[in-house]
Amino acid sequence: MKKVKGNLKIIPLGGLGEVGRNMMLLEWQEKILICDMGFRMPEEDMPGIDYIVPNINYLRDKQKNILGIVFTHGHYDHIGAVPYLIEKIWHPNLEFYASPLTRGIILKRQDDFPNLPKLNITEVKDGSRIKIGPFKIEFFRQNHNIPDNLGLFIETPVGNILHTSDFKFDPNPVNDLPTNFQKLRNLGKRKILLLLSDSTGAEEEGHSLSEKTIEKNLEEIFKKSTGRIFAATFASLINRIQQIISLSEKYRRKVAIEGYSMKTNVEISKILGYIKTKKGTLINAKEIKNLPDSKITVLCTGAQGEGSAVLMRVAQKDHPILRFKHGDMVILSSSVIPGNERTVQILKDSILRQGAKVFHYKMMDIHAGGHAQKEELKEMIKIMRPKFFLPIHGQYSMLVAHSEIAKEVGIPEKNIIVAENGQIINLNQKMISIEKTMVPSNYVMVDGLGIGDVGEVVLRDRQILAKDGMFVIVVVVDKQTGKVRGSPDIISRGFVYLRESKGLLRDTRKKVIEIVHRATGSGGAVNWSYIKDEIRNKIGQFFFNKTQRRPMILPVVIEV
Ligand SMILES: [Zn+2]
Repeated sequence: MKKVKGNLKIIPLGGLGEVGRNMMLLEWQEKILICDMGFRMPEEDMPGIDYIVPNINYLRDKQKNILGIVFTHGHYDHIGAVPYLIEKIWHPNLEFYASPLTRGIILKRQDDFPNLPKLNITEVKDGSRIKIGPFKIEFFRQNHNIPDNLGLFIETPVGNILHTSDFKFDPNPVNDLPTNFQKLRNLGKRKILLLLSDSTGAEEEGHSLSEKTIEKNLEEIFKKSTGRIFAATFASLINRIQQIISLSEKYRRKVAIEGYSMKTNVEISKILGYIKTKKGTLINAKEIKNLPDSKITVLCTGAQGEGSAVLMRVAQKDHPILRFKHGDMVILSSSVIPGNERTVQILKDSILRQGAKVFHYKMMDIHAGGHAQKEELKEMIKIMRPKFFLPIHGQYSMLVAHSEIAKEVGIPEKNIIVAENGQIINLNQKMISIEKTMVPSNYVMVDGLGIGDVGEVVLRDRQILAKDGMFVIVVVVDKQTGKVRGSPDIISRGFVYLRESKGLLRDTRKKVIEIVHRATGSGGAVNWSYIKDEIRNKIGQFFFNKTQRRPMILPVVIEV
C-alpha cells in the first residue's frame, strides 16, 4: 500500500460502553461514512422515556460531507434510530446500503413516519462491493440470530478495516447457511489493519449455542406443555420467531402473533422468504377462544418487561383479549439486557401469581445467544490477524474483557484500544490513538413525538417527582402594601396526604407569609424572583427537617 498522510477518524456515537444504540462514523478528510443508526431502551430510572438515540450534534452543518449509511443487520439497536435522526442529516445524495431483510424492516418502519424523506436503500448481500467516496466496502455474511446479517470489509486510504457486525459462529443455523470459515480466512489474508469486533459475549466462557441447540431446548417445552404456550421474544429475533412457528406446526398448534412490531417484522420476513409458515398456521388472537388450549401458541413481544409490550399488558390484565391462567406456559426467550433485571423480575412474579409457569433462559438455554463468546472471539482475531484491535458493541466491562482476549491471542497491548462513545480514534498505518477532545455523545431521549427535548433537566425533574412528589404554594400579594392576602393555597401530589397533614400545612402557610413579609416589609422595589427562591429554599429545608423528604416545590406569587 502506498504511503498516505493523515489519519482516519473513527468516532463511535453509541454502542461502546452500553448495549444498544450502535452508531459509528468513519471520517477521512472530512468525508464521513456512517455505520448503523440504532436506539436503546431507557434505563429503569427514566420515567416516560421511550428510547434513547445517539447524539448527532457532531454531524450538524456537515450534511454535505456525509456520504452514506451502511447497515449491518435489522436489529433495532442497529437501525432503530433512523426515523428519529434521519431528517437532521438527510440530503438527496445520501446513499443507503442494507441487505434485503434489513432494508425491508427499515422501510416498513418508515411507513409509520410518513412525513420523513423517502429512503432509497440499495440492496447488498454476501459478496457485494460498493464504493462510497474514499471507502470501498465488501460485504460478507455473518451468522447472528437474525438472517441477512453482514460484516464489512472496508478499504480505507490508511488500510483495511474489518467490522464483524454482531456475530456468532454457527455450524447449524436456522434459515441460514453455516459460517463460511474459508471466506473469513480469505478476508484475513488481505492484511487487516484494524479489527472492530462484537464484544457482547466477551464475558461468557466457551462457545455460543447453535440455533439448532436452542431449538432442541425449546422443543422440550413444547413436548411437555398441555396448555397454551406464550413465547415472548424480541420482535427482531427472526430466527427465534421461525423456530417457535416451526415447533408449533410440529406439535399442531396455531400461532397468534401479538405486538405491532412483531406482526410487521413477520409480515416482511414472510414476503422476503426469511420466515416460512404452513397455510393456516397463523391465526388472529380473536380465534384463540375457539381452539383447545393445547393447540395455541401466542408469539409476542415483551420478554424484557417493557411496560407497553404485549406480555406485560397480559400480566397486568390490561390486554383486550388475553389473560393468563393455570396451565399456561410462558417462555421468555431473550437474555435480559443490563438495566432491565428488576422489571423482568416483576413480570415473572406477576405471571406466576396468575397460575402460569415461566421458563426463563437461566433455567434452560433458550435465550438469544446471538453473540460470539470467548472461544469464538479468539478464533475471529486469529483468523483476521489484525495489526490493531478495537472492541465494539457492549458494556465497558465487555469491551475490557474482549481486549484481554485479544492480548491472550497475541495482539500487543499497545495496539489495542478500549474506547467509549464520543471519543475520536485516530488511525494510520503506524499507530492508533485516542484524541483528548471528545464529540458530544450523551443521551438523546425520545418521548412520544419529542426527540431530544427531554434533556437532563426534565429527566431530573421527573425523577424528583417520582421520588418525593410535588408541592405547589400559591400566594397572593398586595402590590401596594406588600401584605399577603388571605391564606396561601396549597396543592400537593405524591408528597403528603393533605388531610392527614393539617399541622404541617398550617406551619407551612405561616412560614410562607413570614418569608413574603420579611422581603416586602422594608418598602421599596420588591424582588419577586428572590421571594420565590426564598420560599423554595426555606420551605424545602423545613419539609426535609419535618419529613426527610424533598418534594419539588413550585412557588407561585401573584401580585394584585
Ligand atoms: Zn444484533
